[in-house]
Amino acid sequence: MVRENEIRAGEVAVDMPPANDAGLIFIGTIRTPWTSRLECPRRGREDGPVCRIELFEPWSQGLQGIAAYERLEVLYWLDRSRRDLVRQSPKNDGSAHGVFSLRSPVRPNPIGTSLVRLIRVEGPVVEVAGLDCLDGTPLIDLKPDRSLFNPLAPPQKGDFETA
Ligand code: SAM
Repeated sequence: MVRENEIRAGEVAVDMPPANDAGLIFIGTIRTPWTSRLECPRRGREDGPVCRIELFEPWSQGLQGIAAYERLEVLYWLDRSRRDLVRQSPKNDGSAHGVFSLRSPVRPNPIGTSLVRLIRVEGPVVEVAGLDCLDGTPLIDLKPDRSLFNPLAPPQKGDFETA
């Protein structure tokens, strides 16, 4: 249901750092076995190694309910990427492709996404398999896999009645 500036029963709001225009807040760190791009997979696999997503406070309470999902979408900031190559030659073969036709980590806003298998949640740590990022990559967001996400039930008769 649509709402404006409403905090509902059971919800918790936390203090936010001052917002910059379109500024991101890194909400955690991703721990993986890979410290160099030479060894990091280009695309994660669900049978790949277990990686740890460590949330910073106060965000860990946002994990409540996440264990119900088998798959998550993870968004991260590819912090060691250059950002200025609008056309790129991934194969270094003389042919170049526009950045938006590639999943290259080199992009103006280096956001990476992966669909991962959830293994377990323990306190502020989420263990997953299927990532393809370097150790220490900043976490931007976690969401349930959209194909598994059931929206809230449609409004029922009486939901909008007032006293
Ligand atoms: N799965 C994501 C996506 O599709 O948006 C990222 C794909 S990108 C091809 C994965 C590659 O990004 C890795 O093989 C590695 O070379 C590079 N990479 C991973 N973590 C990075 C980081 N923190 N900074 C810069 N490059 C990174």
